[in-house]
Amino acid sequence: MSTGVLKKFYNSDEWKLFREQIILSRRKNGRVICEHCGKTIVISKHIQVHHLEELTEENYKDVNISLNPANVVVWCHICHNKHHKRFCGGGHKRREKAVYIVYGPPMSGKSSYVTEHMEKGDLVVDMDKLYEAVSFMAPYDKPENLKYNVFAIRNYIIENIRTRYGGFRTAWIVGGYANKVERERLASDLGAELRYISATREECINRLDSSNDYRQEHKEEWIMYIDKWFENFVE
Ligand SMILES: [Zn+2]
Repeated sequence: MSTGVLKKFYNSDEWKLFREQIILSRRKNGRVICEHCGKTIVISKHIQVHHLEELTEENYKDVNISLNPANVVVWCHICHNKHHKRFCGGGHKRREKAVYIVYGPPMSGKSSYVTEHMEKGDLVVDMDKLYEAVSFMAPYDKPENLKYNVFAIRNYIIENIRTRYGGFRTAWIVGGYANKVERERLASDLGAELRYISATREECINRLDSSNDYRQEHKEEWIMYIDKWFENFVE
């Protein structure tokens, strides 16, 4: 797809408008759904409008191919990459052992973001899940006295991520990371990319209201976490 005329086509207003209309017309309940895996695509950059009959320098001027709704599907970037084998040993650049730090306020949807973008075999570091694993308590019920052991596990895995030890493909580190200096230091130390999951305080509180787990039963505690995050956050 990287030849000049095709690049030009993908930058044209015609294509951009067509693409926009396709995405709008295929939404379900206001959500953009991947027509391949059925998952919701949250990040607009991840929406791929893919031609079934692939565009070439010879056929791109034929609107029955290039601008035909029946010839395009809306896919998430993961399905799209898989199709073009960008990560699985195909000719394109293969990014091995990428590391992402997914940060944002409590209840902003960080775990959902990871769930949506990860693949089997990825390594995920999430304090809440680590607590769960070693305390045997309900999710988010985190006994304070276990903190040091949970941090020790986390630090151990993060060290492995830093040295790219072990067979993972992509690692995801989930956390608040409100402090910009700490966040950027960690990212540069790990060679990681930062992914900000933005949400307003109100959105976080609304999600807390409908969380239907330990967090909802301990709302005041979690509102405190949310407020603390917003107090400390520097973009
Ligand atoms: Zn998909």
